[in-house]
Amino acid sequence: MKSLTDLIFDNRFARLGDAFSTEVLPEPIAEPRLVIASPAAMALLDLDPGEADSELFAQLFAGHKLWSEAEPRAMVYSGHQFGSYNPRLGDGRGLLLGEVVNDAGEHWDLHLKGAGQTPYSRMGDGRAVLRSSIREFLASEHLHALGIPTSRALCVTASSTPVWREKQESAAMLLRLARSHVRFGHFEYFYYTRQHDLLRQLGEHVLRCHFAECLEQEQPYLAMFREVVERNAELIARWQAYGFCHGVMNSDNMSILGITFDYGPYAFLDDFDANHICNHSDDTGRYSFSNQVPIAQWNLAALGQALTPFVELDALRETLGLFLPLYQAHYLDLMRRRLGLRDADDGDEALIQRLLHLMQSSAVDYTHFFRELGDSAPEQALARLRNDFTDLAGFDAWSASYQARCGQAEDSQEQRRARMHAANPRYILRNYLAQQAIEAAEQGDYAPVRELHAVLSRPFDEQPGKERYAERPPEWGKHLAISCSS
Ligand code: AMP
Ligand code: MG
Repeated sequence: MKSLTDLIFDNRFARLGDAFSTEVLPEPIAEPRLVIASPAAMALLDLDPGEADSELFAQLFAGHKLWSEAEPRAMVYSGHQFGSYNPRLGDGRGLLLGEVVNDAGEHWDLHLKGAGQTPYSRMGDGRAVLRSSIREFLASEHLHALGIPTSRALCVTASSTPVWREKQESAAMLLRLARSHVRFGHFEYFYYTRQHDLLRQLGEHVLRCHFAECLEQEQPYLAMFREVVERNAELIARWQAYGFCHGVMNSDNMSILGITFDYGPYAFLDDFDANHICNHSDDTGRYSFSNQVPIAQWNLAALGQALTPFVELDALRETLGLFLPLYQAHYLDLMRRRLGLRDADDGDEALIQRLLHLMQSSAVDYTHFFRELGDSAPEQALARLRNDFTDLAGFDAWSASYQARCGQAEDSQEQRRARMHAANPRYILRNYLAQQAIEAAEQGDYAPVRELHAVLSRPFDEQPGKERYAERPPEWGKHLAISCSS
């Protein structure tokens, strides 16, 4: 276990030089207070969890102090936003403080979000509000607990520094951890500015640090692209299987590592709705829940385009073609687990689609359905769940197919329950729960956000006394459209 002052830095990205990032010091926020820290994220740096209580912790993560080995820098990137190319984005309000090497030899980027203006801030103030920082913190640590690859969140600090959004709010900082902060948009920036020597330098850095096994291949860039396609197919399958809506799948928000990245107006589905649009500003539904699959492929095509100086177009196209079938295989596998099915059958895709249609037309709670399906033997569980459906004939027909598919149980109901509960969370981060915790935090009461985080860190476990967090959402709390402002 280490203390904050024991951390070892090795700033590989900073060493790429000024063409890739610009040195900027964090601009501190006033009267910093620690809102919440994640012991699980601290463990990634081998940090003693007790360090979160130290004065130094809040100071470091509110921009008041800096390790002498840190080299804070704003990265440059571009990207496609809502389908249109934006030639210059970059870290407008976040700084890569440096890379910490843990005892296992892993490098972890320390990225301080809300650290003030940078050369990439454009019209922005360089700040992040408490509301969006808490939202990113809760989602990062919850997705991780659900088994969904993601950037991590070490802590949130609050302040008395005022910030204007739709109304006056207060500035906060979030310390984000990831093995890399390189986005698809990094590659696009050097490709579209025709700086192909720098593009190669970026590519070699990413290959060396994150895809070393691809360097053994005949075509390392193609092998890396294939790996990114594969990881995204699995990532998006997990989002779709667990009802996660990212909300802003611009190519600058897509990590080269295939992890969930850059949380904005995200949502977990309450009632199942394939067309759900969680981002208030997404007028056309480009990033609706079901569009996440084709959009991920679209973003991968944008990344592929940026690799054309190094790889034949046909080979990139062929690799991109792997995305949909891989996605579909992962998705079916996850949904079979959610349904408690232990082997594959040709009819599974149709069985799942029929269920989702029924859930959609009856506005059935997506998380509850699967958890309750495992609670008791199929016949009893289905009889209870039937009350949630309006199309009873449709549900009865589906139930008959499902029960036939379950066949003769080879395991006891106890075993089935344990198996299904390990795939179906009891607790999910619903927007209204986050909203309630945020409102308390805005009044200076951090107990609710800390309790919510603790519950959501063990989403599959029954937690006596915490039933409130597993309840169906109230009507007002469903389908909250979240503003993009953060
Ligand atoms: P996002 O929508 O958070 O993914 O950000 C898109 C771009 O806008 C990125 O280049 C951000 O760094 C930048 N940006 C977002 N909010 C701010 C802000 N408050 N100040 C400066 N830049 C920002
Ligand atoms: Mg972004």
